[in-house]
Amino acid sequence: MSDPAVLEFIEQATDQGARPARDAFDFDMLVLGSGPAGQRAAIQAAKLGKRTAIVERRAVIGGVCINTGTIPSKTLREAVLYLSGYREKNIYGASYAVKSQISMSDLLFRADHVIRNEIDVTNHQLRRNGINVLAAKASFVGDHEVRLEFFDGSGVRDVTAQNIVIAVGREVVCDPSVPVDGQCIFTSDDVLHLKDLPRTIAVVGAGVIGLEYATMFAALGVRVTLIDKRDRLLPFVDHEIIDALVYHMRQNRVTMRLGEEVEEVARVDGDQRVRITLASGKRVNTEKALYCIGRQGATADLKLDAAGLTANHRGLLNVDENYRTEAPHIYAVGDVIGFPSLASTSMEQGRLAACDGGPQPRRALPLRHLHHSRDLCGRVQRRRPDARRRALRGGQGVLPRDRPWPDHRRFDGHAEADVPPRQPQAPGRGDPGGGRVGADPYRPGGARP
Ligand SMILES: Cc1cc2nc3c(=O)[nH]c(=O)nc-3n(C[C@H](O)[C@H](O)[C@H](O)COP(=O)(O)OP(=O)(O)OC[C@H]3O[C@@H](n4cnc5c(N)ncnc54)[C@H](O)[C@@H]3O)c2cc1C
Repeated sequence: MSDPAVLEFIEQATDQGARPARDAFDFDMLVLGSGPAGQRAAIQAAKLGKRTAIVERRAVIGGVCINTGTIPSKTLREAVLYLSGYREKNIYGASYAVKSQISMSDLLFRADHVIRNEIDVTNHQLRRNGINVLAAKASFVGDHEVRLEFFDGSGVRDVTAQNIVIAVGREVVCDPSVPVDGQCIFTSDDVLHLKDLPRTIAVVGAGVIGLEYATMFAALGVRVTLIDKRDRLLPFVDHEIIDALVYHMRQNRVTMRLGEEVEEVARVDGDQRVRITLASGKRVNTEKALYCIGRQGATADLKLDAAGLTANHRGLLNVDENYRTEAPHIYAVGDVIGFPSLASTSMEQGRLAACDGGPQPRRALPLRHLHHSRDLCGRVQRRRPDARRRALRGGQGVLPRDRPWPDHRRFDGHAEADVPPRQPQAPGRGDPGGGRVGADPYRPGGARP
């Protein structure tokens, strides 16, 4: 992936003794990680005329968003809904399906196509903006210096940069006692590598990702057992929505084991099946288990101390309102700074960090999930929830960023966003609650764009 011309450029730059002031560093901006946060930071910096490079430790660019997370999960979901005929069953009957025997390769066919296309678009954008892409694992050597371990055999080189953006995202957390093999017991990163669809599956961890895959498998007719130590699903979502979600999941034959601690996850029957033992003494026997208990900042290999930085116990970095870390010339954006950990928010954080010290764009963060909550949550007649919950669920789309951000008031693993209370509005047609139809409490004048 690394362009030989770029490597040559680094070589020459490193060999030079005295350099003109602007060239005191190899790059004006070095971005670590090519997910949405890193891409947008790099493109914005390049547009501002900075000599920019982006470092990616995987063989392909795009981060979790394109390769294992947002885009693949949403594409799989669309494939599941289409092939299973899920949306049409009400009309044509429960036996209706576009394809009767849906296989993993049917689902992956669509995902592969979309992923390939997204990688291509991203590559083109980076190239068009003159950004150097370096295929290497990055770690700090000093506060302006980064070591690059190239995986194409080009060895190890140290590069310097005036500003550095850390956009390394988060990675799956695994309990070392759980024998994850990527097939029988797998994580959300392994879903695209599954060879076949099981008839039964246990999903350990009922967070957003666990629930998303649990509902997909259930829609395909797989018998799902959902296990979580909390006794309520997604505590930050309206109760009514969760009640409806639970109702629809039960209709799809999902068995809930909530308020249950997992004691042991083991492969049994010659590694062909999984046995999960719960602290209550119950046992769940399934063909496969999806283990998704959470994600932590991918900072373990960065050698942050060499740059004078520290991450918290979840590997996340603290930043100020301009995304500066403890070292003011080093920024951190995207999932590695925690809530809300969404693709579109990460992109905007990347742009804002690259603009720091220059003209500032409008300060608002998109807070919209890329999925349709209507489908995830079932067909729900929502009553008007309060503004805070609407914003957290992503219904409003934009969260004001003028106030201190991020506001890390943790709420069961999620931070509550600092959202202004909804202003009472004049009663209008079609809105018995008193607000105008389409009014947006987060915009001046309340108008939806
Ligand atoms: C299953 C799943 C579903 C999701 N669904 C949604 C959704 O519907 N909507 C939504 O908005 N968000 C969703 N997300 C979250 C979204 O994917 C993330 O918020 C987004 O990808 C974060 O972007 P990022 O740039 O911060 O990090 P990432 O996308 O994680 O990219 C970080 C990159 O940095 C690289 N890197 C790490 N360490 C190094 C190093 N030392 N050197 C070089 N490179 C390094 C990694 O290889 C990676 O490519 C989902 C996530 C998952 C896992």
